[in-house]
Amino acid sequence: MLHNVVEDLVEEWIEKVLPQYTCCKCAKCRLDMMAMSLNKLKPHYVVARDLFSKTRYLNTSLQNDIMMAVVTSVEFIKDHPRHDTE
Ligand SMILES: [Zn+2]
Repeated sequence: MLHNVVEDLVEEWIEKVLPQYTCCKCAKCRLDMMAMSLNKLKPHYVVARDLFSKTRYLNTSLQNDIMMAVVTSVEFIKDHPRHDTE
């Protein structure tokens, strides 16, 4: 089983960044933010049994790239939610 660690890290960053925004935080928007962030980033695969090595990617420039992609995506979805705002 292969696992894209960037997916986990994007999800973590969205959880970290989202409370600072007054945007819609529904499951649909979160998924859009995640998809958009992941499309900006290169996947980084590890074998599932080596998942603990995820920590190896913390504090690297990868972490910074992920944060930037998440912030850009959150701001875009905030202004362009893909559903009607009530
Ligand atoms: Zn929403």
